[in-house]
Amino acid sequence: MTLELVTIPCRTDNYAYLVHDAASGQTAVIDVPDAAPILAELKARGWQLSDILITHRHDDHISGAEALRTATGAMVLGAAADAHRLPALDYALTEDASFAIGSEKVRVIDVPGHTVGHIAFHFPESKLAFTGDSLMSAGCGRLFEGTPAQMHESLQKLAALPSDTLICSGHEYTASNLRFALTLEPDNPQLISRAKAAADLRAKGLPTVPVGLQTELDTNPFLRAHLPAVKASVGLPDADAATVFTEIRARKDRF
Ligand code: ZN
Ligand code: FE
Repeated sequence: MTLELVTIPCRTDNYAYLVHDAASGQTAVIDVPDAAPILAELKARGWQLSDILITHRHDDHISGAEALRTATGAMVLGAAADAHRLPALDYALTEDASFAIGSEKVRVIDVPGHTVGHIAFHFPESKLAFTGDSLMSAGCGRLFEGTPAQMHESLQKLAALPSDTLICSGHEYTASNLRFALTLEPDNPQLISRAKAAADLRAKGLPTVPVGLQTELDTNPFLRAHLPAVKASVGLPDADAATVFTEIRARKDRF
C-alpha cells in the first residue's frame, strides 16, 4: 500500500508535504516553512504527526520545526552533516541510513550543492522523492555552498530514480524556471506545452508541483546538459556535461 501525499503551500512560495500511512496512522511532514498551515492541515484530516523530515538548513525550510515539535511531539530527522545548524535532531541521518514511515522504507540521498548538508528523501514504493532545493520543478537550487560539479552529481543521482517517481520540491518557481529553460530550448515541444500547462495552473491559483521525473528529464535544462542540442545552445558543442551544467547554472544566476 502506498502513502497518501498532501501538498501544503506555505509563506509566499514554499511548499511543505505530508505523507500519511493509513494502516499505522504514521504521518510525516517534509520541511517546515511555517507551523500553522501544517497544523491546520493535520487537524482537518485528523492526522497525528509522527515525524518531521528536514531537507536542508535554510530558514524557509525549518523555521516552524520547533513549534511543530512542541505542538505534536513528533521526532525531528535531518542530515548528520548539518546537525550543528539544524533544529535538535532526534535522528541524524547519513546516506546509508534508512527508516520507515508505516511499512514503507525511506532512503536518504545526499544531494549537496545548494547547501553542503542537503539531503533528499526517496520513498521507492510510493514513488515519491522529496528534493527540497536540489532538483526543483524545471530548475535547481542556487549554489550557496557547493560547486556546480557537486550539484551536477547530486542531480544525476535523482535523475537515475525510476522515471515515474513524483518529484516533490520546495518552491513554486516553475514559471520563471520554464521561461529560462525556453531561452535554451525555444523549440522543445514538451517545454512549450509544459510552460502553458504551468501558466494555466497558476492562473487558477494551483501548485505546479509535484512533477513526474520523466517531465523533468524532458524539460529541465539542469537534467539535459549531456544532450547535443543543449550543449550547442550554450555554445559548448564539444564540452562535457559538467561544463555545460556549470554554464547553464551561471546563465540562470544572471537571468
Ligand atoms: Zn534553500
Ligand atoms: Fe528554500
